[in-house]
Amino acid sequence: MSAYTFQFLGTCAADFSPRLKGDCADCFDKNARRASVMMFNEHFLIDCGPHCMDSMRIAGVDMGNITDLFVTHLHGDHFNMTNIGILAEACMKKNGKPLNIWVSEEAKIPESDCITVKPMDKFTEYDVDGTLKVTGLRANHDSKACPQHLLFDLDGRKFFYGCDGAWMLNDTYYYLKNSRLALAVLDGTCGDYEGDFRIAEHNTIPMIRLMLPSLRTMNIINDSTEIYLSHLAPSLHKPHDETAEIVRPMGIRIAYDGLCGKV
Ligand SMILES: [Zn+2]
Ligand SMILES: [Zn+2]
Repeated sequence: MSAYTFQFLGTCAADFSPRLKGDCADCFDKNARRASVMMFNEHFLIDCGPHCMDSMRIAGVDMGNITDLFVTHLHGDHFNMTNIGILAEACMKKNGKPLNIWVSEEAKIPESDCITVKPMDKFTEYDVDGTLKVTGLRANHDSKACPQHLLFDLDGRKFFYGCDGAWMLNDTYYYLKNSRLALAVLDGTCGDYEGDFRIAEHNTIPMIRLMLPSLRTMNIINDSTEIYLSHLAPSLHKPHDETAEIVRPMGIRIAYDGLCGKV
């Protein structure tokens, strides 16, 4: 059965550390995260925000290898048209083909010689390359930013990417029932406390703590699901290592920039 190989190239919410312009300008650091980007199977990218080019340079990724960009939403920490243009030109130069941009159908992205837009209707499965399939699910996030969660299917192995978003919406939750995810990346923007005002757009750790057992009941996750929290706001969290310890009893991990894995 096919596997997902992946690398987190950025895991931050929008409160970026000034260290990114100082001692972390040319390296990854667990406590100086860059804007959330994830690459998988060498040529698929999820989001391309303000730091995408720096992240790829530091990770040693050849931009020209990226054939498909999946956009979660249009907030500036996830979607940067200048960087997407650079990525698209690199794709055209290397492959002689435009970059495919998969985006929620209500988002209006300009096409060019280097960019083919693939509009996605919610809860409709699209064939990406004859092997990978993708479905956009409704996300509990700012509707003006055309948000969607992403569900990938590779020979029956499923990968859910849910940043940005808060508590799951009813139709998304039931769509995911019995999906037995191989990999799940959940929004972990807010820290381990109650009372944050953002609970209708981002998760807190207590929300995750409450959510996971129900996802298990619904057979959305099981013992073999690898679960990561990403899109962390450093100003709302303890340092990385302490946060990793906080979530360890839940059987989940905190993503960090540069983290590689295979499921
Ligand atoms: Zn964000
Ligand atoms: Zn957002």
